[in-house]
Amino acid sequence: MKYAWLVIGIVAARFLTTAIAYPQLDGDLAWQRRLGETILRTHAIPRALGDETFTAAGAPWLPQEWAFSVLGALAGNGPGFAVFAGGVAGAVADSLLGASIQSLRWCQQCARATERDPHACGSATRPLRGFTWFGNDAVNFSATIVGAGIAFAGAAIAGTTPSH
Ligand SMILES: [Zn+2]
Repeated sequence: MKYAWLVIGIVAARFLTTAIAYPQLDGDLAWQRRLGETILRTHAIPRALGDETFTAAGAPWLPQEWAFSVLGALAGNGPGFAVFAGGVAGAVADSLLGASIQSLRWCQQCARATERDPHACGSATRPLRGFTWFGNDAVNFSATIVGAGIAFAGAAIAGTTPSH
């Protein structure tokens, strides 16, 4: 499958982006992979964080986060890990774009920032920062392209081209 790696890269990017959106997630990648390996070995998904985390023991986890850990473990080394790295790059791009040029608006009624116009409360919002044409969808799209690109490049460097 010529585009198999591309698809996996996009999935990885989306998983990691989702993970970063939840502040309780530990961002350490090595730890994430070890977690995934544990799940694969025991065929069980723990219901809460264990004491191996230093920040949030006992915090509830979402299925996407476990799926991401398993994905990281499955990726292994070489081209697989390149795809995993692509997911990381995609998430970083997502964060950078979201914090810089992504459109952010302000609802005077609620006195809070929002991406929507009108706001959920019904009030019109005014531009706060970023480009008005560069919304959340544009950020997601761009981050996915970056992640897939890194995954492709990394896989090629690792000695296995995506088309093989
Ligand atoms: Zn509002």
